[in-house]
Amino acid sequence: MSRRPRFAVVGAGIIGAAVARELVLRYPGSRVTLLEKEHSAAAHQTGHNSGVVHAGLYYEPGGLKARLCRRGGALLRKFCRDRGLPFIECGKLVVALDGLEQRRLKHIFDRAVSNGVPGVRMLGPSGIREVEPNAVGVAALHSPATAIVDFSAITEAFVDDLKRLGGSVEFGREVERIDSRSDEPVVHTASGKLIVDRVIVCAGSQSDRLARRSGGSRYPGIVPFFGQYFALEPAYRDILHGLVYPVPDPKYPFLGVHLTRRFDGEMLVGPNAFLSLSREGYRGLGLNVRDLGETLASPEFWRFASRNLPSAAREARTVASKKYFLRAAQEYVPALEGARATRLTRGIRAQAMTADGKLVDEFAIEHRSGVIFVRNAPSPGATSSMAIAEHVVQLLDDTYGSG
Ligand SMILES: Cc1cc2nc3c(=O)[nH]c(=O)nc-3n(C[C@H](O)[C@H](O)[C@H](O)COP(=O)(O)OP(=O)(O)OC[C@H]3O[C@@H](n4cnc5c(N)ncnc54)[C@H](O)[C@@H]3O)c2cc1C
Repeated sequence: MSRRPRFAVVGAGIIGAAVARELVLRYPGSRVTLLEKEHSAAAHQTGHNSGVVHAGLYYEPGGLKARLCRRGGALLRKFCRDRGLPFIECGKLVVALDGLEQRRLKHIFDRAVSNGVPGVRMLGPSGIREVEPNAVGVAALHSPATAIVDFSAITEAFVDDLKRLGGSVEFGREVERIDSRSDEPVVHTASGKLIVDRVIVCAGSQSDRLARRSGGSRYPGIVPFFGQYFALEPAYRDILHGLVYPVPDPKYPFLGVHLTRRFDGEMLVGPNAFLSLSREGYRGLGLNVRDLGETLASPEFWRFASRNLPSAAREARTVASKKYFLRAAQEYVPALEGARATRLTRGIRAQAMTADGKLVDEFAIEHRSGVIFVRNAPSPGATSSMAIAEHVVQLLDDTYGSG
């Protein structure tokens, strides 16, 4: 690398913004340019999610997700406290409704303990009532350290740090491809090219397309899954102190419809998980013919679909009927019966899928000729963002030295 290394980071979601910030901190005097196709930061997954700082309950001990989630949560806590941004440790219950779910919950509890999650404990029905008087279940796992934040505000604060420390951000600049055949990768955009020393691509739902256009492998491909949220009417805002989640279906990588308090006091129900008709369409049907055509033409999607019909049928009911959707939440919080709710903007998950139709559970980070591609950063990606940034920058350092 040159004496004043030049970096390009693609995508101003929370991960790209965290990586760009980490680069200026780690390489003082370097030139860091953050390129974003939209006109603001956090326009996609980062600005359309549940806002939960996960404590690390569910993830395979020793795996990247477990490690980066725990470290990322601790870094975010300090960052938010230092900046006066909301970081509300309201806690979370994962509630089992029957014996089968209770056995699955025990497995999650063991993982949480292995992952070093602070304060987790198993509760019976009376313990549940002590934590959340309106919740019911045969057993629950309580995680007091789970928190809620405003991920958009955090992303904007990362971008402010980047600019303050001498980096720059270019909104409305879409990257078409990266040519990494020479020692100095070339980033091509409609308004000209950028020659740098290293590139880090954090393009969320576009990550597979950008990787392919830059000579990378076809897999993992991205299949978009939307998640609908509803906001409960104001009378129900204080029905819970914190968050209430179901025990996740081990065959499905999503956490199930949950009740989430938002940092601004709204009480949300959602998200469900169903095939999205586009990667970035949040309103109405959100149909994008190219996106849908690509999904339907991919053999891996059909392999996945044929294996997941029962879960898909269950989720389809929550898509078709608001009543059914809310009824799922009432199983855990019966006092919600009769509550009204308003449909909010949906979120769309960029879920990576292998050629044989398996959803990639782990974070996937690919590295080739001076370019790092973040190819899968599903939940808890926002929680883990600062730790993913440390990990990616360390990878650069280990491979190329500090220059
Ligand atoms: C419904 C839902 C709920 C979730 N809940 C949680 C939660 O509670 N807690 C948690 O930790 N995580 C949660 N997640 C996951 C979390 O939101 C993501 O892991 C995280 O936001 C990923 O950040 P990102 O920067 O990779 O992606 P994004 O936020 O999608 O950002 C990618 C950016 O890249 C830009 N881009 C793409 N292509 C180009 C290009 N060619 N040129 C320039 N720019 C480009 C896009 O415009 C976008 O701004 C949730 C996700 C969803 C969808």
